[in-house]
Amino acid sequence: MNRRWHYFFCFSVLYPILALAYIAVIYGSKIHALRIVSISPKENSVPMLPPLPPSEKGILFQKKVTEKVSPKVVSTAVPQKLIASGDKPYLPLGEIAKLLQLKILIPMKNGQMTMGKGSAVIQFTQGQNFITYQKSKIFLAHKLIIRDRALCINYEDYLQVLVPLLAIKLIEGQTPALKTIAIDPGHGGKDPGAVNPRLHIFEKNINLEIAQRLKTALTQCGFLVLETRSTDVFVSLEDRPAKVNKADLFISIHSNASTDPLAHGLEIFTLKRAQAYRANAFDPWNLIAAYSILSTLSQNTCLENRGVKMAEFAVLKYLSIPGILIELGFVSNDDEAKKLMDPLFQEKIVQGLVEGIKKYNANLGKR
Ligand SMILES: [Zn+2]
Repeated sequence: MNRRWHYFFCFSVLYPILALAYIAVIYGSKIHALRIVSISPKENSVPMLPPLPPSEKGILFQKKVTEKVSPKVVSTAVPQKLIASGDKPYLPLGEIAKLLQLKILIPMKNGQMTMGKGSAVIQFTQGQNFITYQKSKIFLAHKLIIRDRALCINYEDYLQVLVPLLAIKLIEGQTPALKTIAIDPGHGGKDPGAVNPRLHIFEKNINLEIAQRLKTALTQCGFLVLETRSTDVFVSLEDRPAKVNKADLFISIHSNASTDPLAHGLEIFTLKRAQAYRANAFDPWNLIAAYSILSTLSQNTCLENRGVKMAEFAVLKYLSIPGILIELGFVSNDDEAKKLMDPLFQEKIVQGLVEGIKKYNANLGKR
């Protein structure tokens, strides 16, 4: 190819093609970049925040909202002043004092408030998820909060804890009977429960010994007694409620364990409130039974009172009667494990249990 043809070819064919290809590449990449730019802010953008609930502005809740959270088993006058925090309604304690005829013994100071009814004293502290009722901690589903300068309790906790403890007559439905008591010694057979390897103590044996002593004591008091096991055998968690669902009160007896060898004290569990189990129909009665028995048990044994707590224990879920689960003390704590094995101490436990069952019965009688 001569030089003239070479220039002609470069300027009229090759360079225009290269220029067009260059423009196409740049334009294409810009489109691609634009696409990224236009999408990414959308994907990474902060989602729209929901509007503040009316309560944050101090507006009163409507009756409709309160009906939505009311458990079926408890009735009470619909409070005039409900305050929302997040999506949950709360009640100022001053309002509760009016509703349940409580005396304000110590007005709110530093997030604490003390109220009373008769001889009962109840303490409330901001940020805590329990109240102290007659020296027993009663655990709540929600923490106590301050809103509009008032100490407030979650409305559900008010219905499920304060109403049963302080206004038992407001609980709807039939009062449970108390003639037959079901005793459920935890674990057994192939399942030893908690073990203290230093002292060779098995939880299943402590539970069974206390259960046998309790059976004798309750029978002497005129109660009928059913048991889920009376020997060292394995019974599944599902079979236990089924065996004794014709009783009037279910008491599961356990001993505790912790990785902390110093952990000590007794605690009583109820089924977690407001869940979807059949046994939740008995939530107020479970709480009254747990509190009644914890108070006399801690008095009789002088073990530390760790409070009334909630859990979704399988053995409590499928009950068709009120029921509680007692953790008598810590097998993992050498001092407490020795006490739990001592026949004299076991008698103190049994005495506390019997007095507690009688106290529960007396509370039912207030209806
Ligand atoms: Zn256990």
